[in-house]
Amino acid sequence: MPIDSLWAPWRMQYLTQLDPNEGFKSPPAEGVPACFLCDALRFDAGSEDAQKRLVLLNDERGMILLNRYPYTTGHLLIAPRQHLGDLIDLSPQQRGNIMELTALAEQTIKLAYNPQGFNMGINLGRCAGAGLPGHLHMHVLPRWGGDTNFITTVGSIRIIPQALEESFRLLSAAMGKVAAIK
Ligand SMILES: [Zn+2]
Repeated sequence: MPIDSLWAPWRMQYLTQLDPNEGFKSPPAEGVPACFLCDALRFDAGSEDAQKRLVLLNDERGMILLNRYPYTTGHLLIAPRQHLGDLIDLSPQQRGNIMELTALAEQTIKLAYNPQGFNMGINLGRCAGAGLPGHLHMHVLPRWGGDTNFITTVGSIRIIPQALEESFRLLSAAMGKVAAIK
């Protein structure tokens, strides 16, 4: 089933926060980057600031974080360190880093959730569904048979924060194990 057929009402809250170009309409505070990915990239994974931003990994290759407005449980984002909107703007090594982190995200989600499948992809440009076109990011979504039914049944803005905390805890533990294997 294509991603866009999933019903995710909390995404409306996200979309209305964005200006037509990129980032948030009003940065949370002075000196804070308007781009939520650049904002999160400032903090080491494991720090309180990184946890608040749902960052699972932050190293020289880029960042893996939980999507705050997920299509499915365990929906991860992979972002390069560079605030760039197109794959052709990145160097071959930077593109390679994105794929390495995507594989790491896949392995982590498998360990945490044992899904039946995955959707992975990059939305380039707002018309293609990019909520933050200025800073490209890979989406990695675990999928289960019938998961759209699950989402339409339980999906609501109110339950998401708790679900996110639980997802973050589970995925952090899984990522620690994956890192230990390597
Ligand atoms: Zn950015």
